[in-house]
Amino acid sequence: MKTDKLIAIEDQFGAHNYHPLDIVIKKAEGVWVEDVDGRRFMDFLAAYSAVNQGHCHPRLLKALRRQAAKVTLTSRAFRNDQLPAFCQEICELTGYEKVLPMNSGAEAVETAIKAARKWGETIKGIRKNKAEIIVCADNFHGRTTTIVGFSTEEAYKTGFGPFTPGFKVIPFGDAKALEKAINKNTCAFLVEPVQGEAGINIPKRGFLKKAAALCKEKNVLLIADEIQSGLGRTGKLFAFEHEGMRPDAVIVGKALSGGFYPVSAFLSSKEVMDVFTPGDHGSTFGGNPLGMAVASEAMKVLVEEKLIQNSAQLGPWFMDKLKAMPFKSVKKIRGRGLFIGLELDRPARPYCEALMNEGVLCKETHENVIRFAPPLVIGKKELNWAFRRVEKVFKKLEG
Ligand SMILES: *Cc1c(COP(=O)(O)O)cnc(C)c1O
Repeated sequence: MKTDKLIAIEDQFGAHNYHPLDIVIKKAEGVWVEDVDGRRFMDFLAAYSAVNQGHCHPRLLKALRRQAAKVTLTSRAFRNDQLPAFCQEICELTGYEKVLPMNSGAEAVETAIKAARKWGETIKGIRKNKAEIIVCADNFHGRTTTIVGFSTEEAYKTGFGPFTPGFKVIPFGDAKALEKAINKNTCAFLVEPVQGEAGINIPKRGFLKKAAALCKEKNVLLIADEIQSGLGRTGKLFAFEHEGMRPDAVIVGKALSGGFYPVSAFLSSKEVMDVFTPGDHGSTFGGNPLGMAVASEAMKVLVEEKLIQNSAQLGPWFMDKLKAMPFKSVKKIRGRGLFIGLELDRPARPYCEALMNEGVLCKETHENVIRFAPPLVIGKKELNWAFRRVEKVFKKLEG
């Protein structure tokens, strides 16, 4: 079997920093992937929402090919002709005044941290090296040493210290704790409007609105990490729109390039973005023409193919079907749009493995939660196909 051989090679020569399902994918299109043994599966993870536009979207492939044949990288030592349109388009789409493009999500989070601290020192007047950022328990913002330093998940941190100081953790969704944590040195509150990795956690209604009011009152930047929840996943462009508030800054990544190329970005006001001056931040690949061409097209696909509306329409329909399942292992089902977490009273891994054997690819998150987050190009018929398999797996595993 090709699968076993490839897994053996990867395990011998590659680092073991993941625990993937044992499927080796060789090609994909839309919501479907095919493995090296020719089996077909429906992708219900969408690369953690990086392929909201579906795998190998033909428009993105065309944009990538077209740009790759012209120029791929100039570095920011010179300008390129794709960056201006990207900047204008993402600002017009999101309503923010300025953007700073990076590559991975973690880099865009680091950019947000640097912007917030420098804004704190230069605009708010916090003493040098005293700026504090408030974050939430169970956060996931990436894997750099600074970012894992303020994680509350031991597995993300053990062995990697010492960590960057200047972060305070409050419980997710607790406005009182936020109020208490803010002091004269607080420059920002960094929060995921829906916590994806923690198990599709949705904060108590009104929390983000209260948080925004508190931040405004105390002159603190509210920064939303929408890397996973943004760009249509929850049935709105941004998950914060469900809460009737607007952050001072937002971080995007993943679906920004539809899975073709790492592109992330930090978006904010002129006041915040202008704290950056030449030489104080950058990235060799950030804002490169290939990434910019792909990201421009990926945003257009999201809007023109009405993928955000599709998530808004099909998400509740699918969640209602899941909620109607009679199985006793199901503790809770929560979600927004096609961003759904099914919490079990037992480990979710065996369910994900059984689902894979039925042709549906899901990945457990935090032991007990199955995350359902298919590409947003999915249709009702395909969702129904997947639902029947979910039902079958629950029946089988629970008798
Ligand atoms: C995936 C993710 C990140 C990190 O993005 P990378 O591209 O993996 O560095 C940060 N925040 C959230 C909410 C994410 O889901």
